[in-house]
This record gives sequence, C-alpha cells and structure tokens, in this order.
Amino acid sequence: MKSALVVLVLVLSAACSAQAAPAATQADGEIEKGGISPFDNDHPAIRNLDPALRDAVRQAAKEAKATRGIDAKITSGWRSRQYQQRLLDEAVEKYGSLDEARKFVNTPEKSTHVNGKAVDIGPTDAADWFSRKAAAYGLCQIYSNEMWHIELATTPGGECPPMLSNAAAG
Ligand SMILES: [Zn+2]
Repeated sequence: MKSALVVLVLVLSAACSAQAAPAATQADGEIEKGGISPFDNDHPAIRNLDPALRDAVRQAAKEAKATRGIDAKITSGWRSRQYQQRLLDEAVEKYGSLDEARKFVNTPEKSTHVNGKAVDIGPTDAADWFSRKAAAYGLCQIYSNEMWHIELATTPGGECPPMLSNAAAG
C-alpha cells in the first residue's frame, strides 16, 4: 500500500514537471487576450517590430478609426524564439502532427513574427478592414487561412503578392 502511494506520487510529480515549461511572458511578446493598441510603445511585442511595419500599421489603424470607427488591436506582434517554439509545440499537441501544426504556426526559424516583420490584427472587423484596405500602406494579408496576419509586402498603394494557402506553404 505504501509503495503504491510512492509510485503514485512519483507519477504525479513526473506529469507535473512535464508541463512545467516556462510560461511565455510579456518579455517574450505575449499579449493579453483582446489585444493591445498599435500605439503602445512600451510593450515588447510592439517595441521590437520592424519600425517600417510599425509605422504602416499605425497609419492604417488611424484610417480605420477615422473612416469606419474601427479600433484595430494587435493580438500578436514580435515574439521571442522561445515563445514561437512554445506556440508550435502547443499546435503539434492540438493538431496531432508537426505537418498539420505547421499550417497554422511556423517554426522559430521561419516565423516572420520572430524577426518583427508580422502582426496579427483583431478583432474580426479590423482584420477584415486591414486585409481589404491596408495595401494603401503596403500591408498585405499573406496566408489565405489567416485573415489577421499582416506583413509589409508591397509599396504603399501597390498590389499585394498572391496569397499562400497557409504558413506551411511558405
Ligand atoms: Zn501571424
């Protein structure tokens, strides 16, 4: 009986330590649910963006607000490599394989969030506005399965490149 209890304790503590990977923090670029303003200069997810991307997103957000009353938020911006890896690990868990997970979450080596070249826009009305209108600022939707994922991918007023079907296609 006593040895069974010891085994149980060992199993439980092993299970706990397997889930005890360090949580992503604001310093990794994690953003609270609901997103933050693109004008938040203090948050690492905004501060570590490519300045040209950041400026374009801010200009576009001003137009969305002025013309349509839309409050665009950044739901994800710059991410540390560690945070990206964690998101990928979680996606593998969720989708069952790396191949499937890669359609939704890139590797740290390939993710444009890690080098500050991408933002995710929310809520849906704002993402929709950006995907249709923000090419005026050089901003483009990149993946057809991610309306919210925006990169600086053309010249202001230019044409966006053909969309990739998903992150794995890049
Ligand atoms: Zn994204």
